Amino acid sequence: MYDAIVIGAGPAGLTAAIYLKRANKNVLVLESKSYGGSIINASKIENYPACPNISGYDLATNLYKQAKELGAVIKFEEVIEINWNKEKKIITNKGEYNTLSLIIATGSTVRKLGFEDKYIGKGVSFCATCDGNFFKGKVVAVIGGGNTAIDDALYLADIAKKVYLIHRRDEFRADKKTIDLLKKKNNIKYVLNSNVVKINGNERVESIDVLSNDKIKTFTIDGLFIAIGQVPNSDIFKHIVKLDEDGYIKGTNNCHTSRTGIFVAGDVRNKKVRQLVTATSDGAIAAIEAINYLNK
Ligand SMILES: Cc1cc2nc3c(=O)[nH]c(=O)nc-3n(C[C@H](O)[C@H](O)[C@H](O)COP(=O)(O)OP(=O)(O)OC[C@H]3O[C@@H](n4cnc5c(N)ncnc54)[C@H](O)[C@@H]3O)c2cc1C
Repeated sequence: MYDAIVIGAGPAGLTAAIYLKRANKNVLVLESKSYGGSIINASKIENYPACPNISGYDLATNLYKQAKELGAVIKFEEVIEINWNKEKKIITNKGEYNTLSLIIATGSTVRKLGFEDKYIGKGVSFCATCDGNFFKGKVVAVIGGGNTAIDDALYLADIAKKVYLIHRRDEFRADKKTIDLLKKKNNIKYVLNSNVVKINGNERVESIDVLSNDKIKTFTIDGLFIAIGQVPNSDIFKHIVKLDEDGYIKGTNNCHTSRTGIFVAGDVRNKKVRQLVTATSDGAIAAIEAINYLNK
């Protein structure tokens, strides 16, 4: 029997494990892929306080080692089912574990175009706040029509020389207030009713092919920001805790879910800012709340 099981060994889950271990709790972290979560492949991180210019791999490895050295048990197994009745059981593809409390830190997955993998970190990014600064004075394109895409375009307009905002429909889905802000930026160019169909470049992104009105036009760019949505990794929890309309797990600011003894941390929680610093913050809060719950 574990005091706490943490699902997900990303920044939120590993931070939760560190706090739980330091409170002398018996903790198991279950991870379906590799440790580190979404950040593991980021080539350079510039916005995590006190760690300037660290790679995603180094940051993830530091977190993993810290949790392991404190005694957290970390197993690479995918959680496939939760049984939260009298007996609280977490079922994975390899076994079953009993626990007194649960922290869900399964993150979210970015929606992809399907042909960008080769260029991720080489001009393609899914996060303007993370990577925008690498494109100072350059030409970038943002794909998407929702609030995230508009926010990204606004953010990048203050950094880049020119921003193409490419959307497959003829109008944006974002709220009116955000769209109005776009009009104040004279370096954002709209490319509507258009789809990016190809990325060109040898080592890095050099241009994109855009299909509009049955014609292909090539845009020369330095960076491509894809903001066509995120999919929260919450499907297996939908019968256990409440989700919002986009599938994120509803959590209070103290990371409590709708179910006693189950806490949520990181990108899978319904919140506005999804960054490393907010993920680790959630991990700490969820762990402290779980510790208080266990000590009662
Ligand atoms: C390419 C890229 C670059 C980024 N750069 C920056 C940056 O520079 N600065 C910044 O602040 N933020 C950056 N971010 C955002 C940052 O990575 C996330 O906000 C952060 O990783 C969220 O942490 P998390 O622990 O909540 O989720 P994640 O990091 O997504 O970790 C969740 C973990 O849960 C695991 N998991 C999911 N389902 C299951 C299951 N059923 N069973 C077991 N395990 C499961 C996943 O495999 C994953 O390892 C970047 C994101 C990406 C994609």
